[in-house]
Amino acid sequence: MNTVPIMPAITLQGVTCRFGEVRAVDAVDLHIGGGSLFFLLGPSGCGKTTLLRTIAGFQEPSQGRVLLGDRDITSLPPERREAGMVFQGYALWPHMSVLENVAFGLEVRRVPVTERRRRAMEALDMVHMADLADRRPGQLSGGQQQRVALARAIVFRPQVLLLDEPLSNLDARLRLEMRGLIRSVCDEVRMTTVYVTHDQAEALSLADGIAVMRQGRVVQQGTPQDLYRRPCSRFVAEFMGRINLLPATVSAADPKGCTLVTALGELPCGTGGMRPGASLHAGIRPESLRIAPEGSIRGSCRRSVYLGEMAQHEVETPAGTLLVLEQDPGRASRAGEILSLRVERDAVIALND
Ligand code: ATP
Repeated sequence: MNTVPIMPAITLQGVTCRFGEVRAVDAVDLHIGGGSLFFLLGPSGCGKTTLLRTIAGFQEPSQGRVLLGDRDITSLPPERREAGMVFQGYALWPHMSVLENVAFGLEVRRVPVTERRRRAMEALDMVHMADLADRRPGQLSGGQQQRVALARAIVFRPQVLLLDEPLSNLDARLRLEMRGLIRSVCDEVRMTTVYVTHDQAEALSLADGIAVMRQGRVVQQGTPQDLYRRPCSRFVAEFMGRINLLPATVSAADPKGCTLVTALGELPCGTGGMRPGASLHAGIRPESLRIAPEGSIRGSCRRSVYLGEMAQHEVETPAGTLLVLEQDPGRASRAGEILSLRVERDAVIALND
């Protein structure tokens, strides 16, 4: 697969899916750039799978349109969308060899036998499974089966690849390994890929773009950095990772930033357009609090958890207990110590509920 054509974008316009009273997907507008690896991220029941099924063609929207490039595919059946899919369960055929499983999609498309074999081996090679082409799925580990499922989804060179929680059945180490593999396959083939997960670490580590969903709606869309560093609400901030939340009032404010008054004093904040006097939360990620002699926040360390490359401290301050992450900790515990903390520049986020 040497030539890499640019794949078409996916555009959702006002997509709504109703099941009786439930609006599983509620007026979603989304543009997924051609060739990008895009994540639908959110808690259980927020509508991610329903939205993915709408893109695949298994679910017709109650309202709205799905476009591939500039072609309206809203009513096109799944088999004519030519999208490769990988599900949570691998759904491999147990009576066929790995090679036959991967080649099957080409057989259905009437690709000649020798070409089928060549392309199936090429896809298996991409997922480092060519050596095990003659095995049956029952003779493979979970991670290996998932690789075969990925090879099967990409073998017919789809324009679109859809992944529904593809790593959820794997253990932590294999999940990490598969993340790397999925990213490299996407970089090589450049399909427009939509990946559903509730695991924010998976999304942060792989995505070109992420849409965070809540109750059927997209509440924020952006790059991993946008969502982690500039979440638009408390919900997104908490979903993307751990965060300290301090009750705060906006004092001075301009389009570029504001000052937040908290129990730790006044904190400069880079969130613009806030209303002076508004009550909200100041959010500070645990890694943005540094243990430093010149730090103006003093507190007593109640508990430490040593994690090797970092330690996690719970520090009692006038604003309540703050979680602090110390990189490369020199000692395992600081419990009982009085610590001075400094807030990193541009680390305070103003968050409405
Ligand atoms: P999970 O991570 O648990 O898979 P999800 O974000 O993928 O969740 P969906 O499976 O899309 O969520 O479901 C969204 C909502 O729509 C849920 O409230 C679900 O119960 C409801 N729902 C989904 N499919 C149907 C259906 N066929 N009939 C009725 N309700 C449905």
